[in-house]
Amino acid sequence: MTAAHLETLNDRQKSAVVHGIGPEGAKAEGPLLIIAGAGSGKTNTLAHRVAHLIVNGADPRRILLMTFSRRAANEMARRVERICRKVLGTNAGVLTDALTWAGTFHGIGARILRDYAYEIGLDPGFTIHDREDSADLMNLIRHDLGLSKTESRFPTKGTCLAIYSRAVNSETPLAEVLRSAYPWCATWEKELRDLFAAYVEAKQAQNVLDYDDLLLYWAQTVSDPDLAADIGGRFDHMLVDEYQDTNRLQSSILKAMKPDGRGLTVVGDDAQSIYSFRAATIRNILDFPASFDPPADIVTLDRNYRSTQPILAAANGVIDLARERFTKNLWTERQSEDRPRLVTVRDEAEQANYIVEQILENRERGQTLKDQAVLFRASHHSGPLEIELTRRNIPFVKFGGLKFLDAAHVKDLLAALRFAQNPRDKVAGFRLMQLLPGVGPQTASKILDAIATDPQPLAALAEIPPPPRTGEDWGRFVDMLNSLGKGEAGWPGEIEIARLWYEPHLERLHEDGDTRKADLLQLGQIASGYPSRDRFLTDLTLDPPDATSDQAGVPLLDEDYLILSTIHSAKGQEWTSVFVLNCVDGCIPSDLAVGTTAEIEEERRLLYVAMTRAKDSLHLTIPQRFFTHGQNAQGDRHVYAARTRFIPATLLQFFESSAWPQAQPSSGATRDARQIRLDVGARMRGMWK
Ligand code: ATP
Ligand code: MG
Repeated sequence: MTAAHLETLNDRQKSAVVHGIGPEGAKAEGPLLIIAGAGSGKTNTLAHRVAHLIVNGADPRRILLMTFSRRAANEMARRVERICRKVLGTNAGVLTDALTWAGTFHGIGARILRDYAYEIGLDPGFTIHDREDSADLMNLIRHDLGLSKTESRFPTKGTCLAIYSRAVNSETPLAEVLRSAYPWCATWEKELRDLFAAYVEAKQAQNVLDYDDLLLYWAQTVSDPDLAADIGGRFDHMLVDEYQDTNRLQSSILKAMKPDGRGLTVVGDDAQSIYSFRAATIRNILDFPASFDPPADIVTLDRNYRSTQPILAAANGVIDLARERFTKNLWTERQSEDRPRLVTVRDEAEQANYIVEQILENRERGQTLKDQAVLFRASHHSGPLEIELTRRNIPFVKFGGLKFLDAAHVKDLLAALRFAQNPRDKVAGFRLMQLLPGVGPQTASKILDAIATDPQPLAALAEIPPPPRTGEDWGRFVDMLNSLGKGEAGWPGEIEIARLWYEPHLERLHEDGDTRKADLLQLGQIASGYPSRDRFLTDLTLDPPDATSDQAGVPLLDEDYLILSTIHSAKGQEWTSVFVLNCVDGCIPSDLAVGTTAEIEEERRLLYVAMTRAKDSLHLTIPQRFFTHGQNAQGDRHVYAARTRFIPATLLQFFESSAWPQAQPSSGATRDARQIRLDVGARMRGMWK
């Protein structure tokens, strides 16, 4: 018997969906691994499985669903509802609304830690630092320890954080991380050790957690068998998408919560593993079956439903040369005459022009902007294209680049909410206090240190004599915080109080005050969609909305817009037409990632991920030269670039963009090829500093 909602699935997909769900209902049977290539319907199958569980009586409140981004989690929840509707009709909404445990690993971790804070000695009012906050805290401490002054060659705050994060997530000793990934920092091992120890201490004293802590504390919590049983026992089913990009901490959390793997389903593709720089390891997915007794059942899928045959063949051509691989090549029934295009253009300006022309042509032929995406290896690669799109008034949203939250005024307002929740959060307090005229870093630091040890920090703040020259700003500041601290206005009224307090500062500090005020009103609207300040802050910190071409920053909800995305952020998604720009050595593979074979292999998988996002049409563009001083001004120095080493030429159609005069040979052509690659890399890195 096949239920109506499963009719569209193939037999393998169906077997994964119904695994462990018999006529007597949804039981938590042994673990299941779905491992298969891109576009084979893994995510679709997972959504059907969740729906099938619910239809067969599983309690949606006891289903934990973890995806790569909050966007993916929301999309999954919508799909689940659509599928449930086919069986349950309009009643489905009530059940799928109860699917509240759907989110990212970090987001779910934050909620669990909040619930169990008392059991593990955390103050439940903890606030969460995003990467920038963490780097700022690292910097404050570096400064305190005198490390930035005494030695100018000491690693930057960003590098310090990256080293720390790598060691934590891969559970690897510092010395080894330095040796294998940051050899140029190895001489600083002792200083880094001191810095990290002080950093950990500061976080605890200030009651803040960074991204890594969310996993670290969670893993620590479930290493206690009683707590593990308690937390694991809250869920009958735990399902994880994109499992190839989890790290060891994440797999240990799953294992601790479900030691026998009952009710556990993980889904992934080892050929798409692209997060090893955050300590994700392919071993997680490869070792999953054998890590349980009895071992997990494995379902593989081999039919691709997304891409046409020529696109799939080209993508397979890239991944075929990979050194190590579990998933097999896919096949598709989608025939097409249209081979992917490899387009040589003169430079980045011509590349931008070419892509925009194609996009507009596609739109003439009926594709919306939303059907199309432009992908790139590094966020700053899209600069010239963004300029061209803006010039031609084509709206776009950029994923994986600047976030709404990165805007200073948005951070200021959120800092007020965060500081009210946790007045020991020094990074938030530091940011906030320096908005007041007359308060500099030293005064801010002194005040923050003074109130931090008080059991009632906000009350203590009210007792402090106003610093000189703060005038009535000091009183307004203290009143605002006390009002928020007492929760007088409730949520989301609080954000309004913070906004009214902040506006005069905004007007004083920024010339484009009106645009920024509009942003803050939008932030208020976003906030009203959240049940509490805490959920709002957690979500925005962990997975903030992306920036758009519209100055307002938040996604343009109704309009048609083009997607620009880093390849990393394009994971799991698909578009009718895909453009991958800068397909040259130095960009992909990035010249920052050609140190080891493993790094080069990961770059190859990145290109595979990019190419497999395309359904009907795929363009890979190759600028022949890059200008070393930004824009193409006459006489600027330029360097030549070579087509990426990963592209299997035989499977593509070659194009020269002929609408523009061809590049004239220049003295640059005779330069040493390796030097050229280095130059391209240096320029790519320097462009947006
Ligand atoms: P990725 O590896 O990129 O995450 P995936 O394996 O998760 O891909 P999905 O995104 O689930 O693949 O599916 C790819 C496309 O194929 C989607 O448009 C989906 O709707 C479609 N699809 C999946 N299974 C079927 C099916 N049985 N019949 C028709 N279309 C399908
Ligand atoms: Mg998927």
